[in-house]
Amino acid sequence: MGAKAPDTTILEPSKEIPVIRETDVLVVGGGPGGVASAVAAARSGAKVVLLERYGHLGGMATGGLVNAIPNLANLNGEQGIAGICQEIIDRLLAKNGAQVPKKASWGTSDKKVVDFYLDANYSFFYLRKHAVDGSFRVVYSCLADPELLKNELNQMVLEAGVDLFLHSWGARPIMEGNTVKGMFFESKSGRKAVLAKVVIDSTGDGDVFAAAGADYDATIRPGLRISNLAMSCWIANVDIAKRNAFRAAQPERYAELLNKATGGQFSRSLDRRAVVSGNRESEDLFFTDIVPNHDGVLTLQPHIPCKDQTDVEEMTRIDVDTRKMLVDTWDFCRKHVPGFERSWIMLTAPQLGTTGGKRVVGEYTCSEHDLTADRVFEDTIAVFPNNDTGRLACQHRDLCIPYRALVPRGIEGLLVACRGFSSTEFINNLWNLIPHCLCLGQAAGTAAAMAVDASCRVRDVDYKTLQAKLKDQNVILPCPAEGTGH
Ligand SMILES: Cc1cc2nc3c(=O)[nH]c(=O)nc-3n(C[C@H](O)[C@H](O)[C@H](O)COP(=O)(O)OP(=O)(O)OC[C@H]3O[C@@H](n4cnc5c(N)ncnc54)[C@H](O)[C@@H]3O)c2cc1C
Repeated sequence: MGAKAPDTTILEPSKEIPVIRETDVLVVGGGPGGVASAVAAARSGAKVVLLERYGHLGGMATGGLVNAIPNLANLNGEQGIAGICQEIIDRLLAKNGAQVPKKASWGTSDKKVVDFYLDANYSFFYLRKHAVDGSFRVVYSCLADPELLKNELNQMVLEAGVDLFLHSWGARPIMEGNTVKGMFFESKSGRKAVLAKVVIDSTGDGDVFAAAGADYDATIRPGLRISNLAMSCWIANVDIAKRNAFRAAQPERYAELLNKATGGQFSRSLDRRAVVSGNRESEDLFFTDIVPNHDGVLTLQPHIPCKDQTDVEEMTRIDVDTRKMLVDTWDFCRKHVPGFERSWIMLTAPQLGTTGGKRVVGEYTCSEHDLTADRVFEDTIAVFPNNDTGRLACQHRDLCIPYRALVPRGIEGLLVACRGFSSTEFINNLWNLIPHCLCLGQAAGTAAAMAVDASCRVRDVDYKTLQAKLKDQNVILPCPAEGTGH
């Protein structure tokens, strides 16, 4: 236990801060939402500054070693997510830095493909059990190489003409009344300011909208995926064939060893993966990396329940605890599990994995009812395939997201394009992933550039023109005729 916080405050002296850029659009945070926002805004003709606190782009998708980009098509194999997300995948494939199922397999039960993903323990991302007929269906998902992804994201941002600032921590929004006018940020060069006509909060954690005074909801029921902090790690030089042979020959013994290796310390979400019964449908503790040439690499990813994923003391405790768990688990496997003898820990994620947090209260809050009512909005800006709600996935194939879910209520000059979009915990838990945030970013960046061009408020952007522009950018949207209103 650390020292008790003294119950006092201290006044920070005020000082003049240099304004280093005046721009059209300022994007704070360079994760999936931020990169797509910045690229889309710049390609739409806006002057764009992107601030990222770390030395690489990609957020959890790179620094969190979270490299699955899942659920790009529904269970029938119909693609729902394309646009910048597809562009990123195409760029990675061109460098042999991604694994995707062939298009002919999307939505099928092709045994060879199903077995490939089951063996690698990637059923969670690439397979769904059809709730009606019980068969496995192959899902169009992608596993990406995070190092190549970092480079591709840099290149995409620079090719679009974005003014990129890495190592730059967005500290406080610059406010005029209820309008966001820019951001103070901290770096090794000291405190600076960027002024902007539109700011996009892509911090994932909602740092900008919370400090700007927007209403938000931070309630997350314990047990939901988004209630955890997590730490990913890669174990290299595992003899996968030897491990697989042992797992196949002695499944109970393998399961027993994995449970011993974790010492019962992992949360429920990881315990679920630890139960290996000999039934090949069960999930393993480890994911076998299937990115081309990542031979002999396993991923381990403990999830730890957490009350507040932005509480620095809790983050510190969990960072220290998970690192120890990872080393202890690996060490046990090295000593006792065939195949691990010459393995080593190649990398632990540079960023602690934040899964959920503050969700802004927007002009519209996406909820379960939108899914069950198959609601298509007049201002739909993204379609998310529904692969995760069991039987509901067959009945309600897609979730539509309205532009208004990115527009904070009561605050001007700000859009939210990250996992903090306006949504209930049910929706956020299933649809705040990498591809979804890329979609939100592409829409927010395009809309921000439109608002600048038309000198209008972001909330007054013309939906129909926005949708037409997004379709021109290869974003998949429903036909206008399908619109069923608000
Ligand atoms: C362990 C784990 C496993 C997951 N598994 C998957 C998976 O397999 N597939 C999937 O699609 N999703 C997965 N997710 C979820 C997914 O990674 C995130 O929901 C997604 O990355 C959110 O994107 P984002 O842009 O909203 O936020 P983030 O990815 O968190 O990016 C936010 C960015 O903003 C930067 N930033 C934050 N605050 C500031 C600031 N004040 N100033 C400047 N920069 C700032 C951060 O450094 C980061 O680069 C997982 C998440 C975790 C933690």
